[in-house]
Amino acid sequence: YDDRDGKIWMDGKLVEWRDAKVHILTHALHYASSVFEGERCYNGKIFKSVEHSERLHKSANLLDFQIPYSVEDLEAAKYAVLEANGWDNAYVRALAWRGAGQDMGVASRNNPVRVAVAAWEWGNYYGDAKMKGAKLDISKWRRPDPKTIPSEAKAAGLYMICTMSKHAAEDKGCSDALMMDYRGYVAEATGANVFFVKNGEVHTPKPDCFLNGITRQTVIGMLKEKGITVHERHIEPVELAGFEQCWLTGTAAEVTPVGQIGDFTFEVGALTRDIAESYEKLVRS
Ligand code: PMP
Repeated sequence: YDDRDGKIWMDGKLVEWRDAKVHILTHALHYASSVFEGERCYNGKIFKSVEHSERLHKSANLLDFQIPYSVEDLEAAKYAVLEANGWDNAYVRALAWRGAGQDMGVASRNNPVRVAVAAWEWGNYYGDAKMKGAKLDISKWRRPDPKTIPSEAKAAGLYMICTMSKHAAEDKGCSDALMMDYRGYVAEATGANVFFVKNGEVHTPKPDCFLNGITRQTVIGMLKEKGITVHERHIEPVELAGFEQCWLTGTAAEVTPVGQIGDFTFEVGALTRDIAESYEKLVRS
């Protein structure tokens, strides 16, 4: 991804893609003092763009730093990047981190906060077989207790176990992993929230120790508008045996049906298809 033509926005200006670099003594690289966003632009419009910029600010504040650009500045930066690269449909990655400077210990009071926005073309997150139903492994890593980490933040440090879980899943021929939380309840996939269907009603884990995704909230709104009951609650892993359908939600994943989690199988049923189609329509409208 690094050596190519294109433009990336860094600290207030567009730079050449291959020159968008940081110093090796960047605080974030050593201590994970970094927050980010994943967004998608559809036909020239970023879906829920302001919500994403606001979440980036919130994530930074949860990590105890301030982003030196307003939400409006970030909005302008995102569209400047899309325009500079000539993309109407792309994934947008905004990030903010504690940079290199006077401090090289855990404390970082005198280092600048850096901000960048990049974008790239990214098709289906789980590949071309999207509507066939993804196969998920069950991760050995658990989402941590919110008393041990600011789990509401979309922060780099929370992804270390996601990468490890996803690699382990891929080694077993799966496209992702379902993670339990610190109590043993079903939580989420490594970059997406999870939903289940049983007897025409929807069940989804209560986001009390993981990201309450923007797509998740959008899909819950869509389900309620369709008159479907949604239960946000703690879900025990043994319940997987009784669910009929399952899907994942996320900006990158959009609405992706799940066909299998560990030994449990699910059908790509009518409600799953309906929600995937409705989401597709909404983001492009
Ligand atoms: N959980 C995790 C761990 C994620 O990385 C993402 C993707 N940002 C989500 C959930 C879904 O969030 P959203 O719908 O806001 O993209």
